[in-house]
Amino acid sequence: MTFFRLILRPDLRLVKRLKEDVRNSSYNRTSLPYGYCDAESDWQTIKDNGIVEYAKQLKAEGKIRHIGLSSHNPKVAIKAIEEGDIEVLMFSINPVYDMLPGTEVVDDLWADEVYEGGFVNMDPERQRLYELCESMGVGITVMKAFAGGDLLSAEMSPAGAALTPVQCISYCLSRPAVATVCSGARNDEQLAESIAYCDATEAERDYAEAFASFPKVSWSGHCMYCTHCHPCPAEIDIAFVTKLLNLVIAHNESNGIKEGTEGFRVPDTERMHYEVLEKHAGDCLQCGMCETRCPFDVKIRENMDHAVKVFGY
Ligand code: SF4
Ligand code: SF4
Repeated sequence: MTFFRLILRPDLRLVKRLKEDVRNSSYNRTSLPYGYCDAESDWQTIKDNGIVEYAKQLKAEGKIRHIGLSSHNPKVAIKAIEEGDIEVLMFSINPVYDMLPGTEVVDDLWADEVYEGGFVNMDPERQRLYELCESMGVGITVMKAFAGGDLLSAEMSPAGAALTPVQCISYCLSRPAVATVCSGARNDEQLAESIAYCDATEAERDYAEAFASFPKVSWSGHCMYCTHCHPCPAEIDIAFVTKLLNLVIAHNESNGIKEGTEGFRVPDTERMHYEVLEKHAGDCLQCGMCETRCPFDVKIRENMDHAVKVFGY
């Protein structure tokens, strides 16, 4: 299958030229237009210049299959996703960028001084973005999974310790909504290190212990969906139940609905996923064994109680 990515920028002149490219292209079987934007004004310009409407027209004509956006800024990505036309998001994800608040200045992501003080927990907006994408059926394609290579070097890593490429890829793939990781490689050896993910053992993919020992970063109390707390004597899939719980809350918050207020509801997708589980949060024995195994001190028993309240069982 031939892939063709049409890049649409907020510049109307460029769009007109690309329009001709598309009409004449023979590479249009699977096309994916991206409007690359990190500033809220970029997204506004994209809309004002009719680029979203143009992408929808291309899709209706069968010239492209999906409408995508590329961004490094969760604030802009959330705004765009919430408007409903974006189906694919290319976004920069790795365990250190995930700690940073959104910025319109992309260079902040790799500025040494930004990381000097260390970090506690994931930026809530980034978490919300991933959960919003999952709840709205938007697939994420990851870029910068290795933070430009810095995460692979103990000297360069903003976290103060190195990860392997397999651990970085594993982290990205366990974020909600992530479908693919585009890992950069400068040579065959680096490419082979990424491809090694396919045959890696569970132990090689496991990033939890490495994260828990990072000297400059703490994820205390934050569920990473790593499954270290398993197995549960009641056979609850703790990580998945926690993910579904967070997705329900994120879905409601994206509609401005707080838990406990009128209008709060469990979306059909999450309800169906929960229904088909063999064991539910209500089966929790409150034994606490899971909490002794969680590297991030997540209050799992409270989460199970919370899930019972939200799902009803
Ligand atoms: S509760 Fe802890 S161990 Fe279990 S999936 Fe979440 S972070 Fe991992
Ligand atoms: S506290 Fe509940 S979820 Fe945790 S291991 Fe015990 S039964 Fe499973």
